Amino acid sequence: MRTRELGKTSLFVSAVGFGGIPIIRLTFEEAGSVLRHAVDRGITFFDTANRYVDSEEKMGRAFAGIRDKVVIATKTGQRQASPAMEELELSLTRLGTDHIDLYQPHQVSKPEELDVLLGPGGAMETLAKAREQGKILHIGITSHSLEMARRLVATGLFSTIQFPYNIVETEAGAALFPEAKAAGMGILVMKPFAGGMLDDGDLALRFLRRDPDLLVIPGCDTVAQVDQAADLFEGETAWTEADEAKAQAYRDELGSRFCRRCEYCQPCPQGVRITYAMMYRVVAKRMSPAKAVAFAGETMETVRECIDCGECMTRCPYNLPIPEMLREHLEMYDGHRAAK
Ligand code: SF4
Ligand code: SF4
Repeated sequence: MRTRELGKTSLFVSAVGFGGIPIIRLTFEEAGSVLRHAVDRGITFFDTANRYVDSEEKMGRAFAGIRDKVVIATKTGQRQASPAMEELELSLTRLGTDHIDLYQPHQVSKPEELDVLLGPGGAMETLAKAREQGKILHIGITSHSLEMARRLVATGLFSTIQFPYNIVETEAGAALFPEAKAAGMGILVMKPFAGGMLDDGDLALRFLRRDPDLLVIPGCDTVAQVDQAADLFEGETAWTEADEAKAQAYRDELGSRFCRRCEYCQPCPQGVRITYAMMYRVVAKRMSPAKAVAFAGETMETVRECIDCGECMTRCPYNLPIPEMLREHLEMYDGHRAAK
């Protein structure tokens, strides 16, 4: 596996990393096997977060005795100093380590959050102290908002930026990534499979590996997924016209108005299963209408409870018009039911 420096951090990491959300689904034993297999395949960068349930603890157990072989990144959703320090201490305990290589304020999207983060008594104060104490080596940041991510890069305060980028979400390639590179920052790519919407994992990863400055962190919960990522980033594969045509077909199918399944919009006070209902259009396209109705019927019936309160929209990092899209999907579902 090739290695390279992550921005100007002096952290040397594998050409592909490992995203820590999917191991939540696994038992500790299963997660340990997948994580150690990744290390055996030369993957050295592992990204997790305080809010990923037991992902940190699973990594901590899997890397006991081999901590010096891995670079660990984790995150805090806290914006103020005291709760951020509490989360950092908890992460150190869960990960079973005395230091975190890269610590990232998680999903900073709104200007008012940034003001708190950087202001007096904000999390950056305590993270800077933790860096002086050696509890964290570098401070990075993550965002889903392009405008905010560019602003974060411009502050010059962070060693890395983590942002979604994939076949259908390419906006970051135009300005954000060049600006981050010019600033000497490491670039972590989340959502390489567009939140599960790209089912051709090989194509999705080959698209991303064309830029060696991107550290892609695909989430893996099987040994086979680890092997696929490791094989692709070890080898040399071209991006052909046929690949570009397939990528364009995904763009045509999904457009920009699609749900990335991040689940930040939930829970809905009315019990609407937003994420799955937001996928109905794609589900219906891939199955026959009758199968889509059988598959998604229970979920789509919850959409009838939507009262258009808009609460979910305030939490969607992609600013999707959720109630409007849900109504469109419900209309489509009702049409499919009627045609059955
Ligand atoms: S707009 Fe509808 S789906 Fe969104 S939170 Fe309100 S009731 Fe739930
Ligand atoms: S609607 Fe928005 S917040 Fe909810 S899962 Fe989809 S992308 Fe995420």
